[in-house]
Amino acid sequence: MNDILLLKQGEIVLKGMNRKFFEQKLISNISRRLSRLGKFRIYSVQSTIYAEPQSDDIDMDEAEEIMRKTFGIASISRAAACEKDKDAILATAKEYLCDALLGASSFKVESKRSDKSFPMTSIALSQYVGGELHEAFPHLTVDVHNPELIVHIEVRDYAAYVHANSIPGAGGLPIGVGGKAVSLLSGGIDSPVSTYMMAKRGVTIIPVHFFSFPYTSELAKQKVLDLAEELLDYCGRLTVAVVPFTKIQEAIRDNCPEEFFTVIMRRFMMRISERIAKDNGCGALITGENLGQVASQTMEALAVTNAAVSLPVLRPLIGMDKDDIVAIARKIGTFDTSILPYEDCCTVFTPRHPRTKPPLHEVLEAEKVLDAEALIEEAVMNIEHIKIRKKR
Ligand code: ATP
Ligand code: MG
Repeated sequence: MNDILLLKQGEIVLKGMNRKFFEQKLISNISRRLSRLGKFRIYSVQSTIYAEPQSDDIDMDEAEEIMRKTFGIASISRAAACEKDKDAILATAKEYLCDALLGASSFKVESKRSDKSFPMTSIALSQYVGGELHEAFPHLTVDVHNPELIVHIEVRDYAAYVHANSIPGAGGLPIGVGGKAVSLLSGGIDSPVSTYMMAKRGVTIIPVHFFSFPYTSELAKQKVLDLAEELLDYCGRLTVAVVPFTKIQEAIRDNCPEEFFTVIMRRFMMRISERIAKDNGCGALITGENLGQVASQTMEALAVTNAAVSLPVLRPLIGMDKDDIVAIARKIGTFDTSILPYEDCCTVFTPRHPRTKPPLHEVLEAEKVLDAEALIEEAVMNIEHIKIRKKR
């Protein structure tokens, strides 16, 4: 049977003047993502996008899975196409929705007819198909107000389509409509979630990872690349910038007061991220920081970190509880990788007694002994760019 996907647009439909731009972006994201499965015809009618496979060998389960992780789509229905004839429609409903009809206790049929030359009205078609289905599946009751199953019929230009209840899509806005940002990606639980959350608002992501070999191992780096791969389905294309960070951390350890190690290190992370951001036309930085989680995430410490850069720093997790962050990490599939026990560079040279309220002027004074520009320049020169690809 010839399945197609009906993809309902979400928030985009609320956009006024920009709506066409948002919709075009969504269609091009959908086309690009589905193209690896084979040829699709993709078009939009009202606020629904249709994805029609152009050959029988296309894996539609996989197509549905890919669409479930595509931002900008509110819900997904898998529909069967058939001839525009009431009995062909009925036969399709019986066969295609057999499991759903057997599993439900109440149902109704809802028809839409954009092809006005179809000889029956929508109401007559619903009544006909509903009556016949009721006879074929006598355990069902008809409930027009609150049915467990709605059998949807759409009679369109080229064909009729039959589908059942839809499944929720990823929501959010299409990648590419929200600008571009550098996301600081560690191997922890938080930063994959913050990356996902900003991607969900349509932001194109450039992940940056600070790597302190040999204090952190190749396995720790691989873990970050694995997290990026898990985010790839949501974010679209990803190229991780791996910044060599060892020399900077050693310089801080050797020359700065221990109580400021972390906050000075974080200021270097921000400055290097800002350099990468500006080189790539990004408008913001993203971190997984969360108020009060650790000493470097008090309001005062965040202010000191912020003072190192001029770009806005987006912190989507700032006010969330850890439980809620973990729930998202589990939902998007990054949690199990995040809890693998490899060290992050933040846990190298951790001060025994970090200042929770570091005064900016003291931090600036402590930093003066370092040749920040030279250290940053050298790190940026040696960035490794790793394009993320799906393993399977
Ligand atoms: P996470 O779970 O994301 O590692 P965390 O609670 O462990 O966060 P920190 O280690 O203090 O917090 O880091 C705060 C934020 O700084 C991270 O969410 C991430 O955005 C960024 N960050 C920390 N370490 C790195 C790193 N090695 N490379 C890139 N970004 C990092
Ligand atoms: Mg961390």
